[in-house]
Amino acid sequence: MAKPPTRLIVFLFLFSTFSLLEIHGEFEPSRTLEQEQGNVHEVHCSRERSKAAWKIVEEYLMPFVEKEGYRIPSRCRLHPENDMYRDQEEHKIHAALNEWRCGYCKKTFYEEKYLDKHFDNRHYDMLNVTHRRCLADVCGALHCDRVMSSLPHKTKCNPAAAARNKHLCESLASSCFPVNEGSAAHRLNELFLRQFCDSHSCSGGQKLFSLGSKKKTSVLYIITSVLILILLSLFYIFMYLYQRGLKRGTQELKRISRSGQKKKPS
Ligand SMILES: [Zn+2]
Repeated sequence: MAKPPTRLIVFLFLFSTFSLLEIHGEFEPSRTLEQEQGNVHEVHCSRERSKAAWKIVEEYLMPFVEKEGYRIPSRCRLHPENDMYRDQEEHKIHAALNEWRCGYCKKTFYEEKYLDKHFDNRHYDMLNVTHRRCLADVCGALHCDRVMSSLPHKTKCNPAAAARNKHLCESLASSCFPVNEGSAAHRLNELFLRQFCDSHSCSGGQKLFSLGSKKKTSVLYIITSVLILILLSLFYIFMYLYQRGLKRGTQELKRISRSGQKKKPS
């Protein structure tokens, strides 16, 4: 019986090993796809509502806190550390209109919602899921629903819910701005009650965010300035064209009268 050549055996061994590796390599993406689709970690905290709450805090509270040079204590539920999505949100790069990049792995997406999904599936470990770190839980106090819905507020006021939200709101005021911790904290405590808590009533007399926001005034300021600039330049353009027209008109008149004078003797 002929002995099989050693080279052939080695070749067959290597070929089968590489084939196996290749098959695994091929299956790898589908396995990860399965992971990406199926391994959705359950988090009982709405990212959307947490985002809305953060936006409200940024717009209607932080300008006043910064102006006072006050540092929010970590036990306050509005402190950035108490928002489980903060780290992920800060790793969002909005590179262009339709380009959202993941700050952890640099993958890009067309829309923000796909990046959110990617965060949920791939960077779950970056979530700070310890107890009481859900910013959406204080949405009732911060009026997230009113801000999130574009429709005018027409739903019937529920006195029990209003009282509950007011209570939550007041507890936020005392934990974030304890009145016995200096004059800045005292002032901010009163401001917080006026800005967020007073409107939790069914009487309807209190305006939402009655102290306004710093951002909005600055945006309004920019819009007004741009409008004034446009109007001014239009005015100057009009004046220039008008004067040019006048000049041309008088020149024309002069020319006509001159030609009239020349024609007279003949
Ligand atoms: Zn990523």
